[in-house]
Amino acid sequence: MAETNQAWFDRATVVIPGGVDSPVRSFSSVGGVPYTVVEGHGPHVIDVEGRHYIDLVQSYGASLLGHAHPTVIEAITQAAQHGTTFGAPTKGEVLLAEAITSRVPGLEQVRFVSSGTEAVMSAVRVARGATGRSKILKFDGCYHGHADHLLVAGGSGVAELGLPGSAGVPEEAVADTVVAPYNVVPTLDDSFACVLVEPVAANMNLVAPAPGFLEGLRAECDRVGALLLFDEVITGFRLAQGGAAEYFGVIPDLWTFGKVIGGGLPVGAFGGKAELLRALAPQGPVYQAGTLSGNPLATAAGRSVLESVTPASYGTLTQRAQAFGADLEAAIRRGGLSACVASVGPLLGLYVGAHSASISTPTNYEEAKAIIAEGIYPEFFHAMLRRGVAMAPGAYEILFVSMSHTDEILAEVVAIAEEASLEVAASHR
Ligand SMILES: *Cc1c(COP(=O)(O)O)cnc(C)c1O
Repeated sequence: MAETNQAWFDRATVVIPGGVDSPVRSFSSVGGVPYTVVEGHGPHVIDVEGRHYIDLVQSYGASLLGHAHPTVIEAITQAAQHGTTFGAPTKGEVLLAEAITSRVPGLEQVRFVSSGTEAVMSAVRVARGATGRSKILKFDGCYHGHADHLLVAGGSGVAELGLPGSAGVPEEAVADTVVAPYNVVPTLDDSFACVLVEPVAANMNLVAPAPGFLEGLRAECDRVGALLLFDEVITGFRLAQGGAAEYFGVIPDLWTFGKVIGGGLPVGAFGGKAELLRALAPQGPVYQAGTLSGNPLATAAGRSVLESVTPASYGTLTQRAQAFGADLEAAIRRGGLSACVASVGPLLGLYVGAHSASISTPTNYEEAKAIIAEGIYPEFFHAMLRRGVAMAPGAYEILFVSMSHTDEILAEVVAIAEEASLEVAASHR
């Protein structure tokens, strides 16, 4: 039988709910059948039908160097030969913790977990345990993983599926979660343990922090003794070597990381000042644990990524991504659609609409949602996919340019985008 995406997806739906292990991978919001990946190299992925795509998903940002980077493969292979998990301290976790803390300004200690979700759950527990307060504040449209108390008003897949939150989360679980609009500094009181923020909102498509927003959060937290938590699961080691803290010069009390620091393996981390993290068991009363935390393969992979790049690499990535973003926007407009590419450093968010639409850069979730509701992302997505460019199958995700996306590859995407735009525009005439 011929290998087809349809056949594999049909098999998947028998044994995996909805055929996917994470709803963002489903094509629910764009229609059609997902491609089943068999391999990826650098900027490309190849599906079961042998089709090659230029990949702008890059595991939703987990892949900074591109797929199957030789250095990362070598690190994982070496580590695997010495055993994959022990339940005892290993050198690898110390080395990765040193690599992370030495690159992020103000960060003294990290503890490893196995996902971004776990990292945020744990950091919020530390904030509550250390302050003795219950309330947390998050921003509308920011995604912080799928823990009960953090799913309210989440972006990403929650937004794509049009869900307000999630069934199965009891009211009590979110009773202490206050949701505020992004880019407005909220007024807090001394019942707040922490303010949780994506320093660049990258799960409601892309929304940049307004000038003064992060500084304002820092000051407001200090005023009432709340902790500021930067969820750097996307921005960490992508926006700059020192992440958003370095990029914006605002130092939070707590950080969470994920994606890039695992080099494509399951890793998350949370951290802050050593004094604050004394609250954690075994030193303090806040319990948190993990059988596979600090896994030798994952820490080896993560370290190989961090050690493969320099501050200059981020400069190059940013330059390339920025030029690409501008060219992409222009090409889509030339093709006859309206487009806006929002950008912060190397992070790019594409908003695309029919010709008559006027699109200006959104500043919060309400604005992003309105643009996306009017937009024609599903059609544009498929026009790109048919021509061999894979973007995320949802309008609330951003475009990920990896270090392996050369200027030539990005120019190819731009040319394809113009053709795709022409085709979609024609169907709207
Ligand atoms: C992806 C993401 C998470 C969740 O990480 P997982 O590894 O998917 O659990 C948390 N916060 C942000 C900002 C993310 O982008």
